[in-house]
Amino acid sequence: MLLPTKDKEIISFVDKFLKILKNSKKILVTGHKNPDGDAIGSGLGLYIFLRKLFKEKDIKIAFKDKVPYFLKFLPYSEDIVSLESIEDTFDAIIVVDTADIKRVGCKLPLAKFIIEIDHHKEREKFGNLSLVKSPLSSTSELVFEVIYLINPSLIDTNIAYNIYTGIYTDTAGFSYETVTQRTFEIAAYLLSKNINPRIIFTNLYEQNPIRKLKLLKLALSRIKVWEDIKFSRTYILLEDLKKYKASYEDTESFVSYPRSLKDVEIAAFYLEKDFGFKVSLRSKLFFNVAKLAKKFGGGGHKHAAGFETNIKNIELLDNILRKEISLSLKIV
Ligand code: 5GP
Ligand code: MN
Repeated sequence: MLLPTKDKEIISFVDKFLKILKNSKKILVTGHKNPDGDAIGSGLGLYIFLRKLFKEKDIKIAFKDKVPYFLKFLPYSEDIVSLESIEDTFDAIIVVDTADIKRVGCKLPLAKFIIEIDHHKEREKFGNLSLVKSPLSSTSELVFEVIYLINPSLIDTNIAYNIYTGIYTDTAGFSYETVTQRTFEIAAYLLSKNINPRIIFTNLYEQNPIRKLKLLKLALSRIKVWEDIKFSRTYILLEDLKKYKASYEDTESFVSYPRSLKDVEIAAFYLEKDFGFKVSLRSKLFFNVAKLAKKFGGGGHKHAAGFETNIKNIELLDNILRKEISLSLKIV
């Protein structure tokens, strides 16, 4: 038997959360742009739960960008609509996994209440009601604690698939220090709801279109390593995406290849955008990439972070990152 959380912040949040939702007719669930497994998993887990809890209410789920192909297996993902196409106003909007309102990627519809549920340490509060727990494996783990407190009997296979996938992807397969005994207890509970971890893994990582491997070949050929600062990076350009008729979702997890190198601690993947580059940062053991990302106006977690820059020159980006990494290494 899994006991509900005794965390006072979560308990007091749930109280206020339910009061707001009971008085709301129209509710929207959303999260950050280019949504990942945690944003979609926590969002859908909450959405399915709320629809079961409040059958009479009008509840929607939307993100700025579409669901990447490797998350389309998630139950109810077909309910996700484009946030930009929404013209309604809402009584309550719940924003998951989003450290900063800008990360939503477009304007939020008007709402009486904006509620945040998130696990980022560094963030800019933007809601009227917030539940933020850090360090915690994922927003999905936090959403689980919330819905398990409210009504565990509503947690079904569909919700379990979403929450498990969110935890799994945000911890790179239960491999970060944010994974606790409680995380595994929750995962075990979710498995008791009849989910199949093989189906999850194969959908996430074994549905690659061939264009993705062609892009990966390019990215691997461009890996550069600076041994003195244990830094490695690679990149993909817009012209590469065009050549293979690919999009940003086809570069998911490319940053893990430079990180996988022996003696590399910090890895970066630069994805060219029309404004410059989206930079994904990862670290292996001790380096805090969230702090590095913050220097460039981005954010994230100790081992996974990112930022966007209007620098358009790879060499310049290399040099600026190398300089910042060198400085941080001296401080450590
Ligand atoms: P990814 O490299 O997979 O896009 O992002 C890894 C993590 O870094 C995300 O979970 C998110 O927390 C953070 N992140 C990525 N890009 C940005 C960004 O542009 N701004 C901020 N604040 N965080 C980001
Ligand atoms: Mn997350």
